[in-house]
Amino acid sequence: MTAIYQRIVLASRPRGKVSIENFRSETAVQTPVAALRADEVLVRNLYLSLDPYMRGRMSAAKSYAAPQPLDQTMIGTTAGVVIASGYAGLKPGDHVTGRLGWAEMGVASGADLLKVDADALPLSTYLGAVGMPGVAAWYGVNRILNARPGQTLVVSAAAGAVGSVVGQLARLKGCRVVGIAGGARKCEYVTDQLGFDACVDYKQARSAEALLSSVRAAAPDGIDLLFENVGSDVLDASLACLNPYAKVALCGMVAGYNGAAQPLHNAGKLLTMRASLQGFIITEHMEIWPQALAELAHLAQNGQLACHETIAQGLSAAPQAFIDMLDGRNLGKQLVQLHKNL
Ligand code: NDP
Repeated sequence: MTAIYQRIVLASRPRGKVSIENFRSETAVQTPVAALRADEVLVRNLYLSLDPYMRGRMSAAKSYAAPQPLDQTMIGTTAGVVIASGYAGLKPGDHVTGRLGWAEMGVASGADLLKVDADALPLSTYLGAVGMPGVAAWYGVNRILNARPGQTLVVSAAAGAVGSVVGQLARLKGCRVVGIAGGARKCEYVTDQLGFDACVDYKQARSAEALLSSVRAAAPDGIDLLFENVGSDVLDASLACLNPYAKVALCGMVAGYNGAAQPLHNAGKLLTMRASLQGFIITEHMEIWPQALAELAHLAQNGQLACHETIAQGLSAAPQAFIDMLDGRNLGKQLVQLHKNL
């Protein structure tokens, strides 16, 4: 028996901001279950993760990963339920995460899927705080910044998927945590709900000087640890406040993903403060994922890690939700729910 499903392909490469026209919805036919190979698994996707890195893949520019091909299903991490399996480690009804892209269903090699416990935590959590964004936060806080009690840690895109976990992990380690986020609602969320000590609303600042004074006021003892997600003038203001021997974990530079230049005026502080800066791509550190995921799951189950999500409904909502996420309309992890949990 065959199944009909919807998928979204990359129709054209964006110039500057992403638009709806860069995507195309298609109807596809799933090959019969009987045709599954010995190691293959048929999965119905229940959630799709929308992540800023996808903007980079939509471009043909050389990067750490190959571009998303035109007319192919948009790449993306998914969480779903196994419908049929030729793989010994998975059976129908099991919940898995994988990289099946912007599609309602798909086939993957069983070895490329991760079985998750949807009774222990909501399935969607495995795409956010207890998934790739959470692991990126864990890696930066523990392995690059090596956060210690009493240190001041600043994190940008603080109310997003990665930033919200960074701040919570650093608070648990006894740091003074300052977020930088766009808008009063996001700042209130990270201070009132997540326990950050302070938050700077960068959208309130009318100039680079005003932003710098806001960051200085929120981090009066200077910045020991910086978890950078944004780049641009947000990074520049934090660089100006670095303390001697500060550490910077460079996780993302989302302000430049549409091609905007990111001039820095305070890069000299890296030298004068004898700071260290390390960029990282979390998929190059697979050895730490089991430990990170276990710790994050434990914290989430104990109620010590809040996992806020913004969820769009239905595959057809994915392109606009992706654009909205890049425009900062998400609070916490941006997801698309494709089907109600089965
Ligand atoms: P978020 O949930 O934080 O969503 C993106 C956020 O970026 C928006 O909500 C918006 O927040 C902010 N933003 C967008 N444009 C700008 C801008 N011009 N200036 C300032 N802020 C902007 O996404 P993630 O948590 O998934 O990702 C955060 C960062 O981490 C990204 O840079 C991403 O690429 C990176 N990342 C890197 C990984 C790695 O392995 N190195 C792994 C995972 C993520 P606001 O409203 O506050 O502006």
